[in-house]
Amino acid sequence: MEVVNDNSCSWVNDLSPRNNILTLSSDIDCEWLIIGAGYTGLSAARKLGQLYPGQKIVLVDAQLAGEGASSRNSGYLVDTTLNDGFTSNKELDNYKKKADIYKLGIDVIKKFIKEYQVDCDWNECGKYFASSKKEDKKILENFSETLSKLGFEHNLLSNKELKKRLGTNFYNIALHTKGGILLHPGKLVRAMIDTLPDNINLYENSLLLDWKKKNDTVICKFKNGSIKTKKIIFATNGFLKSLGLKSNYNFPITLTASMTRSLTKEEFVSIGEPKEWGVLPVRPMGATIRMTKDKRILIRNTAEVFNPYQMSKSELTKRSLKQKIGIKKRFPELPDDIIQSSWSGIVSRTRNSSQIFEKIDDNVFVAGCYNGSGIGVGTLFGEQIAVKASNENTKEIETIEARNKPTWLPPDPILSLGVRARLIYERFRAKSEI
Ligand SMILES: Cc1cc2nc3c(=O)[nH]c(=O)nc-3n(C[C@H](O)[C@H](O)[C@H](O)COP(=O)(O)OP(=O)(O)OC[C@H]3O[C@@H](n4cnc5c(N)ncnc54)[C@H](O)[C@@H]3O)c2cc1C
Repeated sequence: MEVVNDNSCSWVNDLSPRNNILTLSSDIDCEWLIIGAGYTGLSAARKLGQLYPGQKIVLVDAQLAGEGASSRNSGYLVDTTLNDGFTSNKELDNYKKKADIYKLGIDVIKKFIKEYQVDCDWNECGKYFASSKKEDKKILENFSETLSKLGFEHNLLSNKELKKRLGTNFYNIALHTKGGILLHPGKLVRAMIDTLPDNINLYENSLLLDWKKKNDTVICKFKNGSIKTKKIIFATNGFLKSLGLKSNYNFPITLTASMTRSLTKEEFVSIGEPKEWGVLPVRPMGATIRMTKDKRILIRNTAEVFNPYQMSKSELTKRSLKQKIGIKKRFPELPDDIIQSSWSGIVSRTRNSSQIFEKIDDNVFVAGCYNGSGIGVGTLFGEQIAVKASNENTKEIETIEARNKPTWLPPDPILSLGVRARLIYERFRAKSEI
């Protein structure tokens, strides 16, 4: 496993640099240890900090806190999804369980930003599932039926209306859902770091190398120190498999995205001055594309099995070219050279798009695998895995545990080959939408 800090992501570069970064450099003991400081780990730490003000709680990350996928995502806090990664399950009962979890995820983030007065460019503008292919209307009509049965407000839109709303002629058909929020993921996760309770000891740039259980204690080895803990929560999402956690139930996928600079006044006028919007693809491997509050365009149109996970600059440049083409296809009137940054991020997938939320041993807990929708769900799962690890129960845990559990995956190399083949197939199906 390899994760390094980099300055490739616009969302991170928008923030002021943090100081007082502590790195683990000795051997320590604690009551609680959380590995991974993204939405999941930060949320677990917050909850434990509130539940146990007198106990020693340690949160560790291999890189700077929050600078993994949690600040590198597209910023859609979703209430509904059409595709989860490259699969979709519209069976009503299962879909409702999933949507119930999304709702709780939105609630937990709303509560957090209200309590701490967080400015994260929150915009309840809903989202579009859009396609350039008229024949995708059938998919959207079926989706519309599911949404109607579950009471989600939405409407179908055609090219003319879309051109007005999005500033591009590219899309011929879309379904707009009223629910769903667009936000700045970097600002959100930074607020989670800044407001951690005082009794949380945060160590960054400290990679967990190895861990084992000895009697009732978990012993964790880092490069320059070790931690002995009574209970541990793993919140490493895309890196669960590399730590040997639920290995036959999840696998990492590397995504890349690019963001333009802010459009100039003239450029913005040339596309009709649209309000902020977010489009998700109808076909699983199509592009996610967003117009931000400050008139930047974000595009994500790749998902790959990639080793070693994070991409080098030259690999990123190749993806950035694809993203430039994706923007040009939609906005031919804009200049060619407006991409300001391109970055990669690692997410975790399961076979049936379900999440992991589990006690895997007496004092070992895991939460992760949000299949590309982890802003709300990760924050929810972090909070609730802390409650579960405290041997308590809540309505939220009951809702989470009512979901279908992740299904078994074959070992490598069969798994990697299978996933690669599926990705190629889905890319082919979505080639006009990339
Ligand atoms: C390009 C992109 C677009 C996305 N778009 C969206 C979107 O629009 N909406 C949405 O809801 N979700 C989206 N996601 C997914 C979302 O970002 C994730 O689901 C979410 O960030 C998961 O949070 P997390 O805290 O579980 O994991 P992460 O944020 O990945 O945090 C895990 C942390 O664990 C640390 N770690 C790993 N291994 C070790 C180790 N051995 N020792 C110590 N620390 C370790 C990592 O450094 C990392 O900081 C997107 C992701 C990407 C990459």
